[in-house]
Parts: sequence; C-alpha cells; structure tokens
Amino acid sequence: MYAKALRQLREAGAATIAFDVDFSASSRDGSDAVFAAEIERSKGAVVLPIFFQQDGRSHNTPISMLAKEAAFGGVNVPVDADGKVRRYYTAIDGANASMAMAIAGAPPPLQDSFLIDFGIDASGVSRLSFTDVLSGSFDPARVRGKAVLIGGTAIELGDQFSTPASARMEGVLIHALAYESVIQRRMLQEQPRLMTLLMAIAALAALWPKRQSLNVGELITRHAAMVSFAILAPLVIQRYLPLSIPTSEVLIAQTLCLWFSIQQELQRRSDELIAQREDHLSFIARHNSETSLPNHLAMIEEGADFDLRDADLHPAAILIGIDRFATLRGAVGYAHAGAALKAFALQVEKLEDGEVTRKGPVFQLSPSILGILVHLPSSADAEKAAKSYLERLDARIHLEGSELALHWRAGIATHGENVRTIIENAHLALDAALLQNKSVNFYNSANATDPKRQLSMLIDVAEGLERGDFSLVYQLKVDATSYKPKGAEALIRWRHPQHGFVPPDQFIPVAEHSGAIHRLTEFAISVAVKDQVRMKKLGLDLPLSVNLSGRSIADVAMRDFIIDKCNRFGARLCLEITETAMIENPEGAKDSLKRFKAAGISISLDDFGAGLSSLAYLKDWEADELKLDRSLIKDVKTGERDRKILGATVELAHSLGMMVVAEGVEDEEMAIKLADLGCDSLQGYFFTAPKPFEAMIETAAALPSAMVKS
Ligand code: C2E
Ligand code: CA
Ligand code: CA
Repeated sequence: MYAKALRQLREAGAATIAFDVDFSASSRDGSDAVFAAEIERSKGAVVLPIFFQQDGRSHNTPISMLAKEAAFGGVNVPVDADGKVRRYYTAIDGANASMAMAIAGAPPPLQDSFLIDFGIDASGVSRLSFTDVLSGSFDPARVRGKAVLIGGTAIELGDQFSTPASARMEGVLIHALAYESVIQRRMLQEQPRLMTLLMAIAALAALWPKRQSLNVGELITRHAAMVSFAILAPLVIQRYLPLSIPTSEVLIAQTLCLWFSIQQELQRRSDELIAQREDHLSFIARHNSETSLPNHLAMIEEGADFDLRDADLHPAAILIGIDRFATLRGAVGYAHAGAALKAFALQVEKLEDGEVTRKGPVFQLSPSILGILVHLPSSADAEKAAKSYLERLDARIHLEGSELALHWRAGIATHGENVRTIIENAHLALDAALLQNKSVNFYNSANATDPKRQLSMLIDVAEGLERGDFSLVYQLKVDATSYKPKGAEALIRWRHPQHGFVPPDQFIPVAEHSGAIHRLTEFAISVAVKDQVRMKKLGLDLPLSVNLSGRSIADVAMRDFIIDKCNRFGARLCLEITETAMIENPEGAKDSLKRFKAAGISISLDDFGAGLSSLAYLKDWEADELKLDRSLIKDVKTGERDRKILGATVELAHSLGMMVVAEGVEDEEMAIKLADLGCDSLQGYFFTAPKPFEAMIETAAALPSAMVKS
C-alpha cells in the first residue's frame, strides 16, 4: 500500500516523500520487499521516521530492509512543561536529523532546537487524502517538485499535540510547519534570558511610579503604550527576523509598575486627605467659628516671634473691648453682633499711624474683645502715641443699611515675661478701664490689681469699716467766675493697717463686685450728712456731693436709706452718678432718680466724656448737674475742636436746665477757658486738693481771696 502510494507520488514528480509512519516492525505478507524496492527506485527521495522510545535510551528505526536506500528523520517533538509543543529538534541524536531537517536536506544548525513559526498559515499546507494518492486521482501538479509528508490525520490515531496555534494539531502537520520554518529560514531563536531581563528592567525604569502626583491619563497612556509594545514588537520583529521574543517578563514588570503606581497614588491621596484634615483642624483651633477671625491661641503664636526684649521696638499688646456687647447681641441677634464685630475688626485693621505699627492680623479673644500686637515708640511717648492711634478708630458700623455706634475701651500692656503675660496684662488693663470708666488704660505693674490682694481686700472692706480705717475727704467746687465755694465732693479714703493708703479706684470696683459697696455707700452718706450738720454749725452752708455706685442706684433699700437720712438731718445732698451706672439698669435708675429728686436730693451726671458720653442720654436722665470729665477738658487750652465740642455740650446741658461743672482743673489758664465756655463751677487741684473736713473748712473760708486772679 505504501509502495503504491510512493510510486504514484514519485511518478507525479514529488521531490521528497517522507513517512511519519512506524516501520519498525516487519509485515508478514512480504509487502516490505515491494516497499523496499519502491524506496530504492525513488533514489534517496524517501525519508523514513526514527524516534526515541519513552525511556529516552533506545530508538525505533525502520526495519533494515527499508532502511537501506532511505534517509532518516527523527519524529520526536519536545513537549513544554505546559503540555504545548513550541519547539522542534534539529537532530534527535548526534547522527540523525529531525524529520523536517531531513526533508529539507539542510545541514543541522548548531543549536539543538528551534521554535516552530506558528505564524505560518497551517491551512496553506496542501492536503491530499491517502486514498486519492493510492488511486492516483489527484492533480500531479499539486505534488510536483514538492515535499510530501505522509502521516495519520484521523483523530483516532491519537498522534495529536497542543500548540500555541491550536489546541489539537496532527503530528504530521507539526512536521510540515517545522519544515516550512526551515525552508523559509524562520527557525525562530529564543531570546537569551539576559536580553529579556534587560527589557524588563527598561520597562521598570520607564514605568516606575514617580514621586509627584499621578496624572491618570498619562499613566494609562504609558502603560497602554508599553503593553502594545510588548505585544506588537515581537510580532513585528518575528515578521522580519527569526527571533521569538518572550515578553511575559516585560508584562510582569509593567503590571508591577501599574500596581505600584496605583498603590503610591492611593497612599499619596490618603496622605493628602490627612494633611487637609489636619490643616482644617488647625484652622478651627486658631479661629473663631463665628467670625473666622484668628483667636487667642493664634495671637500667642504670632507673638512668639515678637521680640519682647527688643527695647527699641517697644512691643505691646492692645486689647479693645466693646462695651455692653451682651446687650447689643441680645438686641440685634448673634449673627448681626458677630458681623458687627467683624466689621469693627476691619476698622481696627485699617488703623494706620506713623508711630505705631501693627504686627500680624487683628485677633478676636472673646465675643467682645479684639486684640492686636504693635510696636510703640519710646516709652516716654508710648501712652500718647497709643491713644492717638486708637483715637482714629471709627466705631460706626454699617449693618444692613443702619448705622451702629459701638463703644469701645482699650487696655494696653508693654511689659511681661512673654507674650502670654503681656496679653493677660492688657486684659487686666482693659478690665480696669471698664471699672474706672476710662477709654484707654495702660497696664501698670505698680498699681496692678493682684487677684490675691483683691480677695484679701474684699474681706478687709468689712473689717476696715469696723476698725474705722475709712474716712471722707472733701474737695471744694467753686464758682467759675467768682471762685466762691459752691459745694464740696466727698471722696472716700482707706488707710489700711498693712497696705497703707489704698486708692478708691482700686477698692471701689472690687467692693462693687461684692455686697461691700453698699456698706461703703452707707458709710459715706452717714458721714457726709453728719458733716453737713457740723458745717452748718460752723456757718458754712454748702451742698455736699456723694458718689453713688452704679450698684447702689437701683437698690431700693439703699434709696430709702439715703432719703430717710436726708429727711432726718435736713441735709442738702447731691448724688454723683456715672453714666455707665445708669445705662446698665436704665429703668431702675430712672425710677430712683425721680424719687431722689422728689425728696430734694439733686443728681449730678459724673464723668461725662470719659466713656460712652452720649448727648442723647442727657435729656433722658433729667439730672441737675453735668460733670465734665478731666479727659474731656484736658485739651481745652490747645484743641480748637475740643473747645467747640465742649461749648456745644455746655450749651445743650444749659438748655436742658443743668448746671455744668468741670473737674480736674489743674491750672489757671484752664479755669479761664472753661469759664469762657460757660461752665458754672470748677473743681480741681488748681483750687484745692481733697482735704479732711477741718482743712476743707479752712480752705473754704480762705477762698476766693486765696486765689491770685490775674
Ligand atoms: P471721681 O468721682 O471722678 O472723683 C474725682 C477724682 O479726681 C478724685 O480721685 C479726685 O481726687 C481727683 N481729682 C480732683 N482734682 C483733680 C485734678 O485737678 N487733677 C487730677 N488728676 N485729679 C483730680 P479719688 O479721690 O482718687 O477718687 C477716684 C474715684 O473713686 C472717684 O472718681 C469716684 O469715682 C470713686 N470714689 C471716691 N469716693 C467714692 C465714694 O465714696 N463712693 C463711690 N461709689 N465712689 C467713690
Ligand atoms: Ca465724682
Ligand atoms: Ca468724676
């Protein structure tokens, strides 16, 4: 049968006829001889198979009768670990070429094996059925000059392999493709491992994630380019060169880079998120939630690099507090009050002065207190400079179309161990400004209120009254033109057994915070009423003024006590009440004022010009006397504008039926100017200092002839 096939093919002009058929056993019917004769006739054009047994030692060769005139070709194919056939031997042992090499008649190359080029189209291999060959019913042109491989193709024969090109490929077709690879010089060589490794390293270098933030588009482009390159480059190269490039390492490197890039980006984003959250927390910790203004902590931090020891720069903290902020907030609401404060902070920020320079922003230390850090000029001018700096502050705030006039005070401190204590001291100065009704107050370590001392003083006021530490001194008021005594103001004095003389500015505010002020007021009223009786007996009938603390005005028991005392002793008393005291409890104060007036007690509005000083209140209070504060009259000698304001105030007070007293008159020029402006009475060191009762009586008798009037 094979003999007949061989003859048909030879006669059709086939160049080589190879058999992938086992001829290692003789057939019994003598057909071997016929086949051997045909082989001989084919003159070396026949290739017969030899193959190794499974054990790898022995190999099957065709029976010697057939082997004489035929060439041998090894038909073993190496199967890779994954069960796929990729490579093809060049020879199966030292002597015998493999089937494809034998058919091609090519000298075996140096390497043991090569990669079959599965890129060669397997369907391009022409097929003839064995039966058609036997019967000669085929076109001889299809075999002429060609190599013909005869082998089993039926699935049952089991001679099938898995290849990269197809899951099942007949052994004979593998030999055919291997042959094509040989004659087309496409015996692919595997790339040396080192090369692959270098390519993988190059891929790593190209794709390794960079430090900076990831551009997702760029990442995708780079990786897509690398994947396309890894897939396409071997195909293109393989098209022109017998090189098979394994790119799995490159792809692994690429995947690794992709993974790292994603990891790094995720890490970077989480770091960024944490950093953002920390920034936010740090902002919250350093800013007021309502106004977003930097807070106390921020001020301390800003002040940390504020050189406190630099004597040339005179660092200082200024705290500006808004009076009655709680009342304002109650009236306009939290949101508007916050907006007002913010607008006020803007005004503070706008303050500019050649002598005072602000450092850092405007801070908010409490709902009603703003703070700034500044450099002041030399200590001698510091107070004046700070005051003129703050005087520029325009406290009129425009809120939703309406104007709001904020009343502020400032506390200033220049000395302290660190910025924290400077701020604290400025705070104490601000508290004191409120208690002493000053608009600007400098912290003074000498007379600073020591909390411990204040506490002991609270206890001591009661004890001091028992001990008889307290006394009254009197300062005369004189007629502005004749300098004749018109009255006297009673001022309280405390001679403390340990602390010595304690100024009323210090213990009155403290006593106001406890109930002790009532006992002090009772003391002052009692003594003044008795002293007036004594004065009358001495032939001096003057009204006496007693200062009434804000706390005492609306106190019904105190009111009744005062009225009762005056009635019993027939005293002519004047009560000096500060404006702030009345504003704090207007209803209670108004009621008391009415009753005092009904009882023949006159009312003097004290400290006008020191604090809020609204002319609008003047007509509401129906006082008998207006006392212009020292701060309002101190510039009367030089300031044209001050003089105008004073003149208008005096005029208004007169039109409302009030007498006008100027206090703190320290020299003659002031006295003359104030008299010119229309003041009715004057009070101050120029005429007399506050003196004990007897001394005051003597002074009163000597006035006005004691005054040298020019
Ligand atoms: P005030 O009612 O404004 O009293 C006037 C203060 O100015 C007094 O201080 C007086 O000694 C001072 N003074 C008088 N003439 C001059 C002057 O020409 N130049 C300067 N620089 N100062 C002058 P003092 O006695 O230390 O009293 C301070 C404050 O204590 C008073 O201010 C008053 O608010 C309060 N005070 C005094 N006695 C009493 C009292 O019996 N009851 C109450 N509730 N407060 C009192
Ligand atoms: Ca007074
Ligand atoms: Ca006063």
